[in-house]
Amino acid sequence: FCANQPAPGRYNHLIKKHPCFNGEAHARFGRIHLPVSPACNIRCRFCKRSLNKDENRPGVSSCLLTAQEALETVERALGLCTQITVAGIAGPGDTLATGHALAAFRLIHQRFPHLINCLSTNGLRLPDKAREAAEAGVRTITVTMNGADVDTVAKVCSCIVYRGQYLTGRSAAEKLLISQQVGIRRAVDLGIAVKVNTVLIPGVNDHQTGEVARLAAAAGAEFINVIPLIPQHEFAKYRAPDCQEMNAAREAAERHLPVFRHCRRCRADACGIPGAGIDFAEQLYGQREAA
Ligand code: SF4
Ligand code: SF4
Repeated sequence: FCANQPAPGRYNHLIKKHPCFNGEAHARFGRIHLPVSPACNIRCRFCKRSLNKDENRPGVSSCLLTAQEALETVERALGLCTQITVAGIAGPGDTLATGHALAAFRLIHQRFPHLINCLSTNGLRLPDKAREAAEAGVRTITVTMNGADVDTVAKVCSCIVYRGQYLTGRSAAEKLLISQQVGIRRAVDLGIAVKVNTVLIPGVNDHQTGEVARLAAAAGAEFINVIPLIPQHEFAKYRAPDCQEMNAAREAAERHLPVFRHCRRCRADACGIPGAGIDFAEQLYGQREAA
């Protein structure tokens, strides 16, 4: 399998225009990430969210937008880059932990129904929220799964908050793992294309990439994207995987799902064509500050 070519199938109309579901589209079409989601409902040990203009990694944004500001930002972004086909929300927190992302998507879908609304989530609230997301025009979802069994997930995720309940250890991991699989299935049944991201952490979950891909495929996901760890926060002393480890993990995943190999680990406020190295975020948020 290779995600460089659009996969023939039910999602072809989406995938051919989505720069992060298809290697060919990666350098031809653009996406805007709208930083509207302020909080998260789980704690990944490697996660360090931050508001700044300097760091180039997920979880970082220069600002937080309201739903209305997100709509106005999309409007300006389309003026800067006509190749934008995807309005995405990827943080800086989790998109389904609060209502901000779906509120923004509802406004965007009303005004720009041709855009593919795309969200990234840890999957904890996906079973409850998949229908609302579909109704808000969400057509593609990325779910991050960092393990395929309870013990491994518990090593990566220290706690969750689910409907007011605070869970740690294996019970937190079990709830998360089940929610991810049920949530993917529910989203797929609603016609949403799902990609799974998995953060590769040597010595912690590097033996599980194949199994994560197998579970994701069984739940109905279309692609998998293996992302190298950025060592920080509680995992600051861990190391990032080397090329050989990345290749081995991708090969293990590829037995079950096409692997997307072009991810650039973008900021939560990225805007432009990721595969062409074109980014309008500075222009966009510069304008916003001046407005
Ligand atoms: Fe951070 Fe995302 Fe994990 Fe939440 S789900 S702790 S935002 S990496
Ligand atoms: Fe695409 Fe990866 Fe950037 Fe997301 S983080 S927009 S998948 S390149």
